Amino acid sequence: MDDYLNSITDRKIYMQLKKEDIQLLEHVLSKEVEELKRLRKLKEENKLDFGKTPSWEEAYNLLGQVKNEVESFLGITRLQEPIICYPYTTNQYCDKAKIVYLENEERTLLIPALGHEYTHHIQTMIYPKIMREYDYRYMAFCEGHARSMQRYIAERYRQKEDNEAFLYDITEMTTGEMKSLYKRVCLKKWAMPNKGLIKIKTRMDRLEIASKILDFGRPSEYAAGNTYFLVQETKNGKGVHKDMIKKLQEAQEAKNI
Ligand SMILES: [Zn+2]
Repeated sequence: MDDYLNSITDRKIYMQLKKEDIQLLEHVLSKEVEELKRLRKLKEENKLDFGKTPSWEEAYNLLGQVKNEVESFLGITRLQEPIICYPYTTNQYCDKAKIVYLENEERTLLIPALGHEYTHHIQTMIYPKIMREYDYRYMAFCEGHARSMQRYIAERYRQKEDNEAFLYDITEMTTGEMKSLYKRVCLKKWAMPNKGLIKIKTRMDRLEIASKILDFGRPSEYAAGNTYFLVQETKNGKGVHKDMIKKLQEAQEAKNI
């Protein structure tokens, strides 16, 4: 099994992927691409119900529900609740003030985003300096872990409410981010990318191009972390997300990162 602890401070987390992992990457990416095509078709046919934008009370109740879901999945209890700021212009988390900001959007988009931001709260409560002053060392880890929980919450609510719309946003993000990372890994490992997997357009493409222009050809930390966690999950099962939290707890106790 890969050494998770090393990945916590590794900004270029994806460089831990080996040439043999490219096939696995292609397998995971092709599943995402097919899923995105299926969801887009449903959307075009007006068969996706994105739901209404929640009121403040509903958003506050959703925080309680999502908190329980995420904590039971990660094996965590008795965490102090964050403050919720809703409606806001973007989804984000402030580690200093412990505030989860939530964008004014339909509930099928808001609920998975809440899972993402609440995961940043957990990371901060366990390992306080992890998001401090935007310490880039931890960013791929934080965002990859948060994307994984966003995906988990989307999937949970899809099952609970039998509504595919919950999967739409995270599938588009993952497809775009993985595509960016896949091209980079192929370049670094002297492998030819499969054109069929990279031609699909997503709304993440512009962000990934900007990241590559600004950062010596590197994909964003979101792309690096999201793909790394997805590969780990495919190899070792969904328990990897709980293991990562355990590693953070141990690191905080030993103060060794
Ligand atoms: Zn985030």
